[in-house]
Formats: sequence, C-alpha cells, structure tokens
Amino acid sequence: MQIHNTLNRKKEKLEGKDLKIYTCGPTVYNFAHIGNLRTYVFEDLLKRTLLFLGFSVKHVMNITDIDDKTIKNAIEQKLSLKEYTDPFTEAFFEDLKSLNILRADHYPRATDYIPDMILMIQDLLDKKSAYVGQDQSVYFSISKYKEYGKLSHLKLDELKTGASERCHQDEYDKENASDFVLWKSYDPSRDGEIYWESPFGKGRPGWHIECSAMAIKLLGKTVDIHCGGVDNIFPHHENEIAQSECFTGKEFAKYWMHSEHLIVDGKKMSKSMGNFYTLRDLLEKDYRAVEVRYMLLHTHYRTQLNFTLDGLKGARSSLDRIHDFQSRLKEIQGNGGEEELKKEADLALFNFREALSDDLNISLALSYLFDLIRKGNILADQSQISQNEAEHTLRVIKKMDSVLGVLNDEEDEVPEEILDALQKRETARKEKNWKEADQLRNFIISSGYIIDDTPSGARVKRK
Ligand code: AMP
Ligand code: ZN
Repeated sequence: MQIHNTLNRKKEKLEGKDLKIYTCGPTVYNFAHIGNLRTYVFEDLLKRTLLFLGFSVKHVMNITDIDDKTIKNAIEQKLSLKEYTDPFTEAFFEDLKSLNILRADHYPRATDYIPDMILMIQDLLDKKSAYVGQDQSVYFSISKYKEYGKLSHLKLDELKTGASERCHQDEYDKENASDFVLWKSYDPSRDGEIYWESPFGKGRPGWHIECSAMAIKLLGKTVDIHCGGVDNIFPHHENEIAQSECFTGKEFAKYWMHSEHLIVDGKKMSKSMGNFYTLRDLLEKDYRAVEVRYMLLHTHYRTQLNFTLDGLKGARSSLDRIHDFQSRLKEIQGNGGEEELKKEADLALFNFREALSDDLNISLALSYLFDLIRKGNILADQSQISQNEAEHTLRVIKKMDSVLGVLNDEEDEVPEEILDALQKRETARKEKNWKEADQLRNFIISSGYIIDDTPSGARVKRK
C-alpha cells in the first residue's frame, strides 16, 4: 500500500501490519456539514481499504467538546457545556451511522482527559518548552522546537511575524505563526462557570493539546497514521507535532494524510461562510444517505470536490446501475457461458485492489467495477452467463463493497408483501384484469418502489 505523506509530500510504502490511526473528530458546537463528512468518509475509505488489504487497525477519533466556540455558545444558551454539546455529539454519531462509516475503537471526549492534558503541560513547563504568559495562560514556545513547520513546510525565520507574538486563539494563520496557548487562564466574564482547576490556575486546555493528550494516552507515543482535512495541517497538526514530540521525545506520527475540501462555487464549504448543507438538509430533500456517501467517496481524497445537487443525482444513477446488475445476476439460472464473466470479475477485483493500494485511487477502482458491469450486461444480453458465474460475480461485488460500503443488503431486500403484490399484478395483467393490476401497481409505488418492466418480466426496486 502506497500513501501520500503530507510530511515529505511523497508517496511512500506503508510499513507495518498492525496500524494505529488517529483522526481529528468534530467540534461539537453544531451539526456536521457535508464538508466535514467528506473528511470522515475519506478516513472510512482508508480504514476499509486497509482492512480489505489485510492490515489490522486500531482507530481513535476524538470529540472536541471544549473550545472557544462550544464555551461561548453554551454560555449564550445558559446551558452547561455537557448539556450544550451532548445533542451535537449524538447527531454526529447518527450521521456516521447513516453514512455507514465503521465505528472507531474509541471516541474520547476532551472533557474526560483534562488530567492527561495537565500532566503534559506541566512536563512542557518543566522542560522550558512552555512558559506562563503575562495573562497567566500557558504558552508553547515554538522557538524551542527546532522542527516547527516541518508538516506545513513553513520556514519560521522567513515569516513576517515571529515567535515573539502569542496566540490566545485556537486557530490562526500561517503568516502569524506564533506561540500558541496550551492552557487558557480563566476569565469569568468570558467563561462563566466553565473552568478546571490546575497547578497553573483555573482555566481550560487549548484545542491542540487535547488531541495530543488523547492520542498519546490511547495509542501510545507514536501513531502510524494521523488524518484530517487540509485545513488541519496548520496550525492544528503542526502544533500537535511540536508539543507531542517535546513531551515524548519520539516521532508523533509516521504518516500524515489530509483530504482536500468539499467546495461550493469555488469556496470551501464552511459554517462561517453559511454555504453549507448538513446531511439532514439533504435527507429532507429526499436524497438518501447512501447517495451522499457515494458522492463524497467517488472523487480522490486529494482533489477538491465540487458539491452540487446534480452530483447527488449522478451518485443515484451510478448506484442504480450496480443494483440493476446485481438483480440481473440474481435471476440467472442454469449452465451456459464460457466462464468469461468469471475471468472478468477476477480481473476487476485484482485491478480494484491495485488502484486502492495506490494512495486510494477510488475513481480508478470504481471504473473497474463499472467496466465489469458493462461487460457483464453484454454477456447477459447474449445469455452467456451461468448461474455459478453469476454467483461468483455477486461475491466479487460484495468484496468490493466491503470497501465502498454502499450496497446495504438489508436495504435492498424487497419486503415479501411487495414481491407478492408484484406477482399478483403479473397475473392480473395476463388475465387482462387492468383495474386490479393498476391497484397493485399503485400499492407498490406508494410503498416507495418502482416497477421496471423488463423483457424477462417485471422487477421492483426502491424509488
Ligand atoms: P471541525 O469540526 O471544524 O473541527 O472539522 C472537522 C473536520 O472536518 C476536520 O478534519 C476539518 O479539516 C474537516 N473539514 C472542515 N471543512 C471541510 C470541508 N469543506 N471539506 C472537507 N473537510 C472539511
Ligand atoms: Zn486534532
């Protein structure tokens, strides 16, 4: 497996068999928008591919339930931090479930790891990598970490504003790379009743230290792969590296992978721009979660993905093509054929695996699946497929779906009463009993299915 490592901007062979993966999770101050979800779907594709290729994976994704925004909003709404963040955390898990994203081994909440963060900050103070500022907050001194900038490829001495500045915010821009806050001292007018006790006074951790402490606590000093969206590279991941490596003396992450943004009209989809859709918005418009998953999945993770509703319609028709082919294969009975489809299916699976092993080339991998469908349909038109081959091909598609996660069998299962109605409608039509046939047709359609009258008989599929 080759992956693109942001650290050296090169494709590298992934070493090891048992992999520890840390992925930055949501800040639970709002519902996730589908830009955030693109990053989580990319991470799911990575994990499913690794499992498909025989790696074992231990995965941790954090829940950021303390930061500037969560505190501000909780105070505005007169809620405790937990009361404010819990519903958004729940909604996040619902989104993951709807999108068929495999669950991580742990979802640590920052508020449950404050003692670990304090321990780390104390150690950084002892090592003089951190200091207490005039405002009583604790800052990390970026000049103490010689490799600062190695992930985002920044050269500190070339920057206009240097390390003499201090940043109290969780986020800032590259031009203003500065010492960043590890522990924010308590300000009653800003923080209400939200604070924790520490050896350096009342306050709360900065955003960056949260991820480092949880990653080290749950996965050890070095993780194999650390992921996030490209906007996490600076300052978040740069700062995670600096404080973690000063704390442990070891490399923090061997491979860094970042997904490009989901964009709308050329701009990053973001909450502050107001140009976003949540998954709920799309489900209300009668799109299905599986279509959203497919749309987010099908473009290479290092390419920007332009979001349009037409793109979702495209996802729907791609999924229909796969479903139709599966239905066709399921109906094939008897012998016949010269094993041509079996050969094509094996080759497609081989190529699918190769494409994904090359830095998750999903677009190429999918093209092998659709090539197989095209060839399979031609062979089916010529009655050149045996039942054995059809079953073999269905198994191949299932294997591919262990990575794609878009062909949920349960969902495809047509209920007995619908199949029964279809059967009765066929009989009614044969008997020219049009009234009854129409009634049965209406029943099927109003139950959320459409009827496809094919030369080999009528079939139903989900609308
Ligand atoms: P946040 O909740 O803002 O911390 O973001 C959670 C994850 O979503 C991070 O990994 C971000 O990099 C990622 N992200 C934010 N906006 C986008 C976007 N428009 N497209 C893709 N990923 C995004
Ligand atoms: Zn993080």
